[in-house]
Amino acid sequence: MTILDGKDLSQRIKNELALEVAEVKRNGGKIPHLAAVLVGENPASQVYVRNKVKSCEEVGFKSTLVKKEEGITEAELLQAVHDLNNDPDIDGFIVQLPLPRHINEERITLAIDPKKDVDGFHPVNFGRMALGMACYLPATPFGIVTMLERYGIETSGKHAVIIGRSNIVGTPMGILLSRKGKVGDCTVTITHSRTRDLPGMVRQADIIVAAIGIPHFVTGDMVKEGAVVIDVGINRIDDPTAKKGTRLVGDVDYAAVAPKCSFITPVPGGVGPMTVMSLLMNTMKASKKEIYGG
Ligand code: NAD
Repeated sequence: MTILDGKDLSQRIKNELALEVAEVKRNGGKIPHLAAVLVGENPASQVYVRNKVKSCEEVGFKSTLVKKEEGITEAELLQAVHDLNNDPDIDGFIVQLPLPRHINEERITLAIDPKKDVDGFHPVNFGRMALGMACYLPATPFGIVTMLERYGIETSGKHAVIIGRSNIVGTPMGILLSRKGKVGDCTVTITHSRTRDLPGMVRQADIIVAAIGIPHFVTGDMVKEGAVVIDVGINRIDDPTAKKGTRLVGDVDYAAVAPKCSFITPVPGGVGPMTVMSLLMNTMKASKKEIYGG
């Protein structure tokens, strides 16, 4: 069994990006610039955004944190999005989700210029992905695909079972693994809360992607010997033995599943760091105008 070490791999890719930024600087080019919009005081969102900003600094990108009060109106937030769309120094930006309930997330996502949508959530980027066109891939699936590629995991002809059909993980993951390509050519089954005999489906999988948000949902008896297991879940559970009284676990019962796998991602330290790194890769692409040109 090999652990897919997202922390180590993302650091290696960050080093590659840092070299590229240094080269741009030497040549007097434009330094990639990512902005993150954070609304309110959601503690998890604050941690995510802080990590993103810190990662930008590590590779030499410019970063801007746009902090807004919980009570901001939708119109004011839309204005902030328009300002970022029109700021020539900002190559890409994200609006950290979830947003407060009084703000319509869909309207905000639609207002982001697809050329600067480095989270890959805008329907233009999603549609381009589905059609196999150049686009900003959504960060988490992009991170997973990069991980499979860099670890040289063969996907062609394999049966991939995805658990969860969210717009940001399960559904795009299904599209990416089923399309033609280096990482792709899988036969994909997307399972969800209405799936009949979900354990039976998962048992057939050569590749399992678990993105549900339920701790230890995937148990040892659901996993075929030699399967590749990608655990996207991030769940905080009580743990009296831990210093904080809680700890993070994935959607996979790691202790029971790991011995049966060929490859598995740990939580933390698997998919999470790859997600942040994908955002940096998309920002680099935005800065180089690789997807949409000048
Ligand atoms: P979501 O809540 O939007 O979607 C969950 C999906 O799971 C839904 O499609 C639902 O149908 C399915 N589901 C729920 N209960 C089920 C059940 N009993 N049986 C089968 N399917 C069921 O979640 P999401 O945004 O895709 O995130 C999933 C998990 O991944 C969460 O723990 C989240 O924190 C984590 N996450 C991690 C990263 C990362 O970078 N590591 C990124 C995004 C999300």
